[in-house]
Amino acid sequence: MVVPLASALYPRVHDVDLPLPDLRPLTMPSLPPAPPIVKKLVDDVRRAFVHNLHTGETLDAVYFENGVYVPDALRAAMKVLRDWRSGQEHFMDPRLFDLLHKLRLKMDVRGAFQIISGYRSAATNALMRKHSKEVAEHSQHILGKALDISMPGVELAHLHRAALSLRAGGVGFYPNSGFVHVDVGPVRQWAEAA
Ligand SMILES: [Zn+2]
Repeated sequence: MVVPLASALYPRVHDVDLPLPDLRPLTMPSLPPAPPIVKKLVDDVRRAFVHNLHTGETLDAVYFENGVYVPDALRAAMKVLRDWRSGQEHFMDPRLFDLLHKLRLKMDVRGAFQIISGYRSAATNALMRKHSKEVAEHSQHILGKALDISMPGVELAHLHRAALSLRAGGVGFYPNSGFVHVDVGPVRQWAEAA
């Protein structure tokens, strides 16, 4: 499988307002102080910290710094979030890690997110559908755009509310199964059948 470099797919991310160029001549006697953009970019370091419950593997890596996603970290994430049944790896949409990053900030927690399900091959998804009506046919998991998560010490309902508040994609609440599904597809929500 040819894996696209993350840097090719997501060359740069500007999540800060770029200042308009200063068109005044440089000979002006007093220039205003430089805008704080450089400091902002340097300060925006994002860390992915996830623990896969099926494989016991952990990823603890800075996946975004200096304004760009870090390809090596995204490659490592593919491995940890692979389809554990088939061993297949798939590019994971980095916006998922941004979503987890925001969740972490929102809930003010430090621990690893536990991963109940990451990438799923189409074959694995079809197999799971045979055993559960809860598994969607066109699951965002097949696209590498979804994670089923929990966090020790954090009430699932709290995690669920925090995920909904981000409005970053789909959110499914699975209290009986003990996880919250988050994806970076269209904003929508649902809950596990009682
Ligand atoms: Zn899910």
